[in-house]
Amino acid sequence: MPTYLKQAAEPAAGHRPSSGSVADVVRDVIADVRKRGDEAVREYSAKFDSWSPDDFRLAPAKIEEIVAGVDAGVIDDIRAVQSRVRAFARHQKDSLRDFEVESEPGVLLGQKNIPVGRVGAYVPGGRYPLVASAHMTVVTAKVAGVEHVTACTPPIRGEIPAATVAAMHLAGADEILLLGGTQAVAAMAVGTETIGKVDLLAGPGNAYVAEAKRQLFGEVGIDLFAGPTETLIVADDSADPFVVAVDLLSQAEHGPDSPAVLVTTSRALGERVIALVERILVEMPTADFAGPAWRNHGAVVVTGDLDEAYRVADEYASEHVQILTREPRRALERMRNFGALFLGEGTCVSYGDKVIGTNHTLPTRGAARYTGGLWVGKYLKTVTYQEVTDPAASARLGALCGRAARVEFFEGHARSGDVRAWKYAGAPLPW
Ligand code: NAD
Repeated sequence: MPTYLKQAAEPAAGHRPSSGSVADVVRDVIADVRKRGDEAVREYSAKFDSWSPDDFRLAPAKIEEIVAGVDAGVIDDIRAVQSRVRAFARHQKDSLRDFEVESEPGVLLGQKNIPVGRVGAYVPGGRYPLVASAHMTVVTAKVAGVEHVTACTPPIRGEIPAATVAAMHLAGADEILLLGGTQAVAAMAVGTETIGKVDLLAGPGNAYVAEAKRQLFGEVGIDLFAGPTETLIVADDSADPFVVAVDLLSQAEHGPDSPAVLVTTSRALGERVIALVERILVEMPTADFAGPAWRNHGAVVVTGDLDEAYRVADEYASEHVQILTREPRRALERMRNFGALFLGEGTCVSYGDKVIGTNHTLPTRGAARYTGGLWVGKYLKTVTYQEVTDPAASARLGALCGRAARVEFFEGHARSGDVRAWKYAGAPLPW
């Protein structure tokens, strides 16, 4: 049985639905944007972000001016990361193929991947300018072949997040809106007088953004449920406690609702990490977020062996799972519930978040039980088609269809089969 050296003071955000108040606020904002369009969007943006410009859309000349003002080194780094994200996304696209097969003589069945037409790419930015989310959502959409990407990000304390705007632009966004939270997600999903309706919403965000996507799903497509970040580390006694402590806090700093969990086979490691985390927090500039996240949602679990550790980790189904053991690749065979896996000390979740090339938009709140993260495939509709080129094949299928449909009392369906069996093979019509 696993034992807890430190237990979350509150149930992990990863394992509970949005609190009633978040869901209620989101419901009201969506209903109001639906009813009053731009007027409501403007009011909520003023209320939640103190932001109410004449136009939320940045004009092309303004975008050029903002990009020109960004430090050249920052632009170089944005390009360096985007080329990695683009390259990996292209590999993903290459792994998908359209195909057509002759399933039986004269019967052609095919599968085709068609990009979604219009995507709303949400790039979070309430607390930090999440520049990297622009790479993840926009670059990937463009590699998939999406024709129109509306990229959306909030101002930060009334300021335009210049590096994020530059990243959206360099990633190939077709339009850029400076707008955040539920009002942004709702406007893109339902459309307003000035903001075009999209077919699919993509991108991570805080509890409000994630809940807005959840409530709008159906009316609009969503990529996945990518809410407040979570991390989980599986470690044995070979792990460096300092690295473990630093890496746990690297994710706790996302926000006070971000769980950070250590599952270890070594009680000594667990105890050392708990002490080190408190020491690091004393001088950590982002301790205001990381501290509450660790104290309220952090956990340290000791297991009897690594197999038990993988089982515990699978139950958490965490967004990020980092493996700091002697044989990290074993987790690839043993584990099944994670958004992204980080194998060995040489890599870390921060590489995935910021630079390495895999997508950082990943499932939270247990969604890793049924989905992976954002990837090219989320922007594609995998559709099928069929053609029967041989009349004899159609007659054969027609007779079968007539019988199969009548078992279900679908007389109309049955007759579509009968008529072909009659026309192509002279079978008598039974009606
Ligand atoms: P955000 O852009 O997601 O949210 C900011 C917006 O929230 C604001 O524009 C505001 O309109 C709205 N808001 C804030 N407080 C509100 C309130 N009380 N009522 C109504 N609306 C309110 O930016 P953020 O807040 O910095 O959060 C970013 C989130 O994205 C973090 O939780 C982080 O963990 C998460 N994230 C997740 C992933 C993933 O893949 N799962 C990746 C990156 C980031």
